[in-house]
Order: sequence, then C-alpha cells, then structure tokens
Amino acid sequence: MTTSSPENPDSLSPVQRAQELRDQLWFHNDRYYNNDAPVISDGQYDALMQELRDLEANYPECRAANSPTQMVGGSPSDRFPQIEHPIPMLSLANAFDRDGLEAWHRRVTDLLDGQRFKMVAELKIDGLAVRLVYRNGEFVLGATRGNGQTGEDVTHNLRQVSSIPHQLVGDYPPVVEARGEVYLPLDSFRRMNVERERAGEPLYANPRNTGAGTIRQLDPTVVRDRNMEIWTYSLNDTGDSPLPGSHWDALSALASWGFRVNRENHIFDTLDEVCDFYDRMLAQRHDWEYEADGLVVKVDSIAQQNALGFAGREPRWAIAYKFPAERANTRLLDIVINVGRTGSLNPQAILEPVVVSGATVQHASLHNEEDIHRKDVRIGDMVEIERAGDVIPHVIGPVPMPGEERGPVFRMPEYCPECETAVVKELGDAMHRCPNSACPAQFFESLKHFVSRGAMDMDGLGERWCRILIDRGLVSDVSHVYSLTMDQLVELDRMGEKLSTRILTNIEASKQRPLARILFALGILHVGAEVAELLSARYASIDDIATASIDDLTEIDGIGPRIAESIVSYFATERNQETIAGLRDAGVRLWQELAPVDAGDQPWKGQTFVITGTLSTMTRREAEGKVKALGASASSSVSRKTNWLVAGESAGSKLATAERLGVPILDEDRLLALLSDPASILIQDAATQESTAASPTLL
Ligand code: NAD
Repeated sequence: MTTSSPENPDSLSPVQRAQELRDQLWFHNDRYYNNDAPVISDGQYDALMQELRDLEANYPECRAANSPTQMVGGSPSDRFPQIEHPIPMLSLANAFDRDGLEAWHRRVTDLLDGQRFKMVAELKIDGLAVRLVYRNGEFVLGATRGNGQTGEDVTHNLRQVSSIPHQLVGDYPPVVEARGEVYLPLDSFRRMNVERERAGEPLYANPRNTGAGTIRQLDPTVVRDRNMEIWTYSLNDTGDSPLPGSHWDALSALASWGFRVNRENHIFDTLDEVCDFYDRMLAQRHDWEYEADGLVVKVDSIAQQNALGFAGREPRWAIAYKFPAERANTRLLDIVINVGRTGSLNPQAILEPVVVSGATVQHASLHNEEDIHRKDVRIGDMVEIERAGDVIPHVIGPVPMPGEERGPVFRMPEYCPECETAVVKELGDAMHRCPNSACPAQFFESLKHFVSRGAMDMDGLGERWCRILIDRGLVSDVSHVYSLTMDQLVELDRMGEKLSTRILTNIEASKQRPLARILFALGILHVGAEVAELLSARYASIDDIATASIDDLTEIDGIGPRIAESIVSYFATERNQETIAGLRDAGVRLWQELAPVDAGDQPWKGQTFVITGTLSTMTRREAEGKVKALGASASSSVSRKTNWLVAGESAGSKLATAERLGVPILDEDRLLALLSDPASILIQDAATQESTAASPTLL
C-alpha cells in the first residue's frame, strides 16, 4: 500500500522515523491530492503529520527541505494546462482542541504586541480549493490549488458549477480574484451511490474525493450532471484596485457581487464566543448539505493579517479548528487476513454493522499484529471505531465491558491463509509476510497493480477481469496479459467484442510505457512511483538495474539500503527473472533512449528546465527524467533562473512567462536533438544568451 512498509516506530532513530513518516506522508499526499483516493482517514493522516512536526521541532537533524510539513497539496496533473498562482494558495495550521486554539490566540496576541483583534469564524468546507479570476466582471479563469504555486486550469469544468457566477453584478472592481471550496452536495453523492449500487458497481468512498475527482476529470458535462456547488471564502488583493480593509467586509463585498458566501460565517471579539460557535456548529454538523470538518478562524483586519504574515506553508493569521473525527462503538466479530501485493498479511476487522457519520461500517483496518497487541483488541470485544468523514474506518481500541469475559489474545496465522506457505516476519518489518511470490492472493493484487492507471494503464482490464483471467488459468504471470488473444477474451461472459478490442489495444499501447512506469508496475517492494523515477533517471534499462549492486543503488540520492536490498533481491528471484523475460519476449520496451549516467557524467549539471504543454513522443515526466539523467534539474515554475523552457502543444501561461522573462524556449524537436547530443547545449546556451537578450526565440 505504501512506498515503504511501516516499521515499528520504537525501533527507529528519530532521523529514520522522520524519513519513514515523510515517505508515508508523500504516499498519502499522492493518493489524496493527485488521485483523490486516500487510503487512510484524515485523522490518521493528521496524527502522522503531527508526529513528524514534533520530531522536526525537537530534533533539528530530522528537518528536511522537502518535508511534507513544508509543502502544500500535490502535483498539478498533466491532464490540464498548468496555472501559476501569483499569490500562493497555502495550507492552514490545525488546532484539535481548545488548548490548541488558545495557544494560537496567545501567539497572535504576542505578535500583535497585545493589540486586540476581531476574528471571523467560518465553516471549514471539506471539498476542493479553487481560485476564480474575473476581468471586467467576466469569469475568465478557474484553477485548483495544485502544489500551492502551480495549479490546474479547470475553467471549463468550473463553468458548470451553477453557483460560480459567469458574470458579476453590482459595483465590482475591474479585476476580482476570489477563492472558495467546490464540493459535491451530499444529496448528489447519495444519489450517485444508489445508482452505482443498482448497476452493481463499487460505491464511491466519500463526497470529498468524489467531488475533487469530478472537477479534476476532463468532461464538463459530468460536473453539470453532479450539481457541484461552491462556498466562496476569500478575496485576494491583486494590487489592481483598493479592497475592503477587513475580511468580514470582503465577504460582504463578494456576496454583493453575486458570489455564494456561507451564511454560517460570524465575526467575534473573544475566544469564548468562537468556542460557543464551535459547539453550536459541531451539534449541527449533520444538518448541512455538505461536509465540514471544523472551523477556520481568521484574524479580521487585513492590516493585522499583513503584519502577522506567514510561517512556511501556513498563514499565522488563521487556524483550522477541527471537529473531532466521528467515532462509534460496535462489536468486533472477527479478524480476517487479506494478503497484499507485497505478501503482507493485512488484518481486517469484521464488525457488527454500525452507522458512523451517515455511512454503515462493517470493516475496519487493524494495520498489523503489533498494532492489535498495542491496542489489546480481541475478537468478541466491544470496540470503538473511527470514521473520520472518509474512507477506511479504523479500530481505536476496546471499550471496557465490566463482567464480560474476553477472548484470547490475537495471533497472526503461521501459514499464509491463501497458499499455506510458512509466514515470515523480518526484524524491523512491522508486517508478517507470505514469502511465496507465486501466492495466488499476492498475484491477484500484483496483476491489479500492474494493469492499473498509474502503472501499465490497461484501461478496461479492471479488478473483475483480473480475477476472471486468473480463475480461467489464462494469466498466471503479469507478462501473460501480452499473450491474450481476441478469441480468449470474447469467450468470457459479458466481455463482448467491443471491450475485448479496447483491452487488447490498451495492452498493445502499454508496451511503450516509460521505463519508470514499468519499474513501478512490477510492484517491487519499496519501489513506488518516486523511486521508480529515480531509478529511470540513472539507468537506461531494466537489465542495468537488474545487475546493479546495493552500493551502486545507494549512490542515488533518495535510495537507502532497505530499498536497494529489496531491488537486488527482486531481480535475484527466479520467478521475477521469468517475468522480465516474458515481458521482453512480448515486446515490452524495457529500456529507454538514454545513455546511463554516472554520478560524475552530468553534462547538464547546473541547468534548470521547465517542461510545459503536451509532448508527442514522451510524457512530461519522462522528459524531466531524461534531463535529470543528464544532471539538469526540472522545475515546475518559470523564473529568471530557468535556463530552458521546453514548450509542447498547448503550452499556456508558463510559455508566456518565459517569453516575458526572456528564457530560451525549445520545441520538442530541439529538445530531442539536444538529448541526442548533450554537449551541444553549451554552445546553444552561449548563443541564446545573446539572442534572447533582445527578444525570446523559439529555438
Ligand atoms: P488544510 O487543512 O491545511 O486547510 C487548507 C484548506 O482548507 C484550503 O486550501 C481550503 O481548501 C480549505 N478550506 C475550507 N474551508 C475554508 C475556509 N472557510 N477558509 C479557508 N480555507 C478553507 O488543507 P490541506 O492542506 O489541503 O490538507 C490538509 C488536510 O487534508 C489534512 O489535515 C488531512 O485532514 C487531509 N489530508 C488527508 C490525507 C489522507 O490520506 N487521508 C492526505 C492529505 C491530506
């Protein structure tokens, strides 16, 4: 599930634990922000983040520039034009109880030298943050937050949100920049799930991710059909016209121009009033047609906001005061074991059905044996579970039931429940694992992963078909999907010719996926998408990686001994060698047009590239991998320090910024020519310094 399996936190040094937490948080950020599909609850995520913050605060050696504590959101997706935010879209500090809120209030009071300040309290809507730009009253741009600096241009989708005005009314200034939270109303969400249930399709997990996914897909009619809505909560100072001097007045102005502003917003003088409001809102949280996970408390005066400024990714003048995650008690009927892709034995709680925050919960996660023992959870116990408004509920612990006899302490099975191989538990690994790479349960998970969108992307070949192909004996190694024939597929019940053709076309197309994708698709333990990118930036082929030693691999920044050992052991295993041979025989491209790069052989060291628009011969990520492999760095935003902007089809604002700043611009052909003759970049660089001084050129 994660790029790294959880270790026992107690056995790690603070630096190791901080690194492990960073890896886990990167993984969860990717699931949440980029895929709109988290695998842990917000409460669990917040706990991991808090642990990392504490480590970074207490041990300076644990700090890292690329820590999730310093970053906002995820990466803007390639599927949309990218939009730079002139004013970054940031995150918020959290308070989880009154003490946390009071501490924030004291800090603000100190920083304002004891000045009094008013506070606006608003509901913290659980949706997707968007930026809306209006020129002369007309809606011209709508973008997601993305990584805070660069978001995705989703204007065409936001035009389908009926509560986002197309044209402002009243006395609006020439340029208006507003921000708000777009959400999927609970009614629409429930209706969609009723329809899916009828159609026998898997249900959507929660409104937040379904809503975010709706805005981040390409078909505007889908947005219209789902009745998405917005609450607008801030007005940005673009410097074009004078704006109200208080946030409260800005909200009134937004409402008067036709924006939808939440009626539950209130302005207060004291913290007690804010806390009373919090209690009232908490009691009403199930009455709204949207989900809110707390309050946002903001200093009202814009002058005071400016004086307070920002700390890293968070404004000092605002705080999210979170509602407690939703909990319930129920009976733990059983603990069953699911075998994961990497052989991990994942215990799952089977619960007496219970309704938590509007959803019926019957399963909950129980991480691993240590977790079960730490919590002392036993089959038959009354347990407290938490469903933090989202995906996988988890068991908090047993609820004491005086006089009730308890069952025995839970033990992991000694043999894999799927293939009966003896289970192993290695030192430093929190998970018990089935070591049999031919285990059918592992293989099912591996195949699902191999064909999935982020891996080989064989659209049409979903989970159900993976199961059927395995059961029919058509596929017993991932490479076998390449031998599937039309005759075999059309024979399958409810498959049909149309779907068979689509699947076979996608299987064929997958043979040309970039090396990093193939590495990720293989499901090597600890090799997630990021590690796969690092490997493909250094090595030109799977064969080169397969023969690399642990020392070679750990030379790569970002690859430690645990990952290196896992890679070496993967390629040393006979079954995996057969898989690679099968892929090669099927014609899957296991190499890239790229010379291997030694640490010392980096002719483009010091050069910074920004790649934008759609390239025809490779994805942007692949292009970035190629320039990185030659020592250059790839950035997502254009500045005066950018050496080269590579502009593909439909390049948008980055191209305009590069032109304005006089950054040399390459088209795809020029990039390919430079990649095939890396030394020529130096000659090119010298030439462009002169030519671009006067006017930008498309080289
Ligand atoms: P945040 O909690 O730091 O808050 C900032 C966001 O609040 C803004 O971008 C905006 O979208 C939103 N917001 C809603 N109402 C608002 C209002 N009235 N005023 C201002 N902002 C308002 O958000 P974040 O940085 O996107 O995410 C952090 C949270 O997301 C975490 O605390 C966690 O709960 C959740 N998360 C969960 C996972 C997971 O795997 N479950 C992963 C990543 C993040």
